[in-house]
Amino acid sequence: MFKEEVTERFLRYVQIFSTSDPKRAEQHRPSSENQWDILNLLKKELLEMGLTDVQLDEKGYLIARLSANIPGKFTSIGLLAHVDTASDAPGEKVNPQIHKNYQGGDIPLNHGVVIRQSDNPDLNLYLGGNIISSDGSTLLGADDKAGVAEIMTIIHHLMKNPQEPHGPLEFIFTPVEETGHGMDDFPLEKLKSPYCYTVDAGAVGEMEDQCYYAWKASVEFQGRVIHPGYARGRLVNALTMGAAFISMLPRNESPEATDGLYGNYWPNDFTGGLEKAELQVMIRDFDLKNMERRLQALEHFALAVEAAFPGGKVILKKEKQYLNMLEAISKQPFIMENLQKAMELNDILPIRRPIRGGTDGSRLSEMGIPTPNVFAGGYNFHSRTEWVAQEAMGKACNVLLSLINIWANVP
Ligand SMILES: [Zn+2]
Repeated sequence: MFKEEVTERFLRYVQIFSTSDPKRAEQHRPSSENQWDILNLLKKELLEMGLTDVQLDEKGYLIARLSANIPGKFTSIGLLAHVDTASDAPGEKVNPQIHKNYQGGDIPLNHGVVIRQSDNPDLNLYLGGNIISSDGSTLLGADDKAGVAEIMTIIHHLMKNPQEPHGPLEFIFTPVEETGHGMDDFPLEKLKSPYCYTVDAGAVGEMEDQCYYAWKASVEFQGRVIHPGYARGRLVNALTMGAAFISMLPRNESPEATDGLYGNYWPNDFTGGLEKAELQVMIRDFDLKNMERRLQALEHFALAVEAAFPGGKVILKKEKQYLNMLEAISKQPFIMENLQKAMELNDILPIRRPIRGGTDGSRLSEMGIPTPNVFAGGYNFHSRTEWVAQEAMGKACNVLLSLINIWANVP
């Protein structure tokens, strides 16, 4: 029912440049000016659909509301999606390609980029369907424009069909999510919903109530500089110190060596020169004890590097990014039960799994609004091989509508 409209919206939204800039994110919201383009467009479309309560604040948070259209006392729920895209792959001038009537096999894009069937077994679920990708020069932006398009499609449906019963609803579009700062300035006091759902990422059926505990460490290495020609016994090279630190991070506890509920840490950014070098380390775990162990290990690595490089100094700073949202969500089991019901009503097998990452929902959960994740249908996020099936976006819309119906029957 929604396949055509959601695709039309999706194709339009992905062509709007809205890449987040992680370097600006700590000071600026949104992290790049271009995010206003899509935010302003969504605001305009919401007003055109007839919504009257639509607010876009100066930080780039867009919140729209619909009141209940049936008598009774209902809990307001929120649907959330982010408008920015990741900076890991180019995101400007996205040129979406529709591979119609997919018949199996690899999907070659330009620039030697190939979506390989062997790496993407779920392509088989969409034989005969339409697959959407970029042309290979950029990411696609299904993360999270698929979620944005699905929510917009459902709002449009509710506005066109006033007989469709719903309780009070909030629709929340956020900037900057991909930088991890998406909720830093969120106007929590404006939110009326005690529970929300993030519509982001994931294959059909995925629902996620668990994410990492996430910390970030910045490690500064201070060396001692002297002309290399006179350096014996005197030069302390900050880059060599940093390299020694990196080599202590266990490789079997890296993202590339772990999955499921295993945590990890990895060097994320390393810059500097002889005198000073700066390293960023990301630390992730589902288990708080293991997180503490890793944070402690970093302290030990810092001491070890200092001991190995006399005259050098290591300054370690640790910063919490987000908490595992399971803490908040597990206290209110009906949030996931309703989502599961919504999937089953649409003959979709719910797949409950942990997200090996975080979302705005993780931060929102921490702020007291339990917010699990529900699939938006895409694959291979943050890469040039990102793809989404038209069918999957249609199914996501069906699930959202059922979810809205289910909540309207919950007093
Ligand atoms: Zn996302």
